[in-house]
Amino acid sequence: MTAPSATARTVDVHALPTMLTALRLPSFHRHWPMLAERADKEGWPAARFLATLAELELAERETRRIRRHLIESQLPGGKTLATFDFKALPSVPRARVEALAAGDWIETGANLIAIGNSGAGKTHLLCAIGHALVEAGRRVLYTRTTDLVQRLQAARRDLALEAALARLDRFELIILDDIGYAQKDQAETSVLFELIARRYETRSLAIAANQPFSAWDRIFPDKAVTVAAIDRLVHHATILEMNVDSYRRRAAADRTAPKADAAATPTTDNHPSADSDILADNTKGDITA
Ligand code: ADP
Ligand code: MG
Repeated sequence: MTAPSATARTVDVHALPTMLTALRLPSFHRHWPMLAERADKEGWPAARFLATLAELELAERETRRIRRHLIESQLPGGKTLATFDFKALPSVPRARVEALAAGDWIETGANLIAIGNSGAGKTHLLCAIGHALVEAGRRVLYTRTTDLVQRLQAARRDLALEAALARLDRFELIILDDIGYAQKDQAETSVLFELIARRYETRSLAIAANQPFSAWDRIFPDKAVTVAAIDRLVHHATILEMNVDSYRRRAAADRTAPKADAAATPTTDNHPSADSDILADNTKGDITA
């Protein structure tokens, strides 16, 4: 075999960028010239040079993965724990939210249900917890319930409901916002309840509702099925009662007061487009593929 020094002489350094790209090592690609210069100058052993690059590749790979999952999650920007004003919601202590944001409950497929009037901060709080979970490496999907229901119904029309539901399994948590926003017909209710049944005790749901459970049979047509779905949802669930005055209204009132608290300025609603295909997995095109 050729001696390493002779090999080094025959290696074409100019091919490195191409080789590193082919090996899918973008951080090696980006950092090696600077690090090589430093290693030469400071006389690093070759192993140290290689290990430093490998560490960088691993760290940046994790950052890229989280960034990808954040985009995939469709979580609205800005609704994080950092921008959440806990004083505005005395019924939900910060420590409780921080425990939820740590995510142990996700392991067992438990659920989280936020019930309260419009403007109470349900969307913000659930999204903030979702953000924290993505940062901790978990996969989360935020969706308005009606958007997901429509997509699932389209999948059913294409005889692909099972595959569409299976594709949602990759999300450890699905945040279903505004579950009672509109009255659901039988077909809408049935895909939604199939999702609930499929995820029961294996994959978590976080649900925001303006109505207490007692009013859910007015949203969903079939009382018996509704009771069964609520049963599954609450079997292992944390329920956050969020009946406080609308944060928007209070923030508006504070703005007119002379000493308005800057933290009370509501963030702008920034829901992502409902058009991107959340049911598509990374390799296949859409749910009909
Ligand atoms: P809901 O989903 O209960 O109707 P939202 O979460 O959409 O309420 O809250 C309405 C607006 O007020 C949003 O812009 C949200 O970011 C803001 N908001 C609500 N509660 C808080 C809070 N405790 N701290 C900071 N902003 C809040
Ligand atoms: Mg909301």
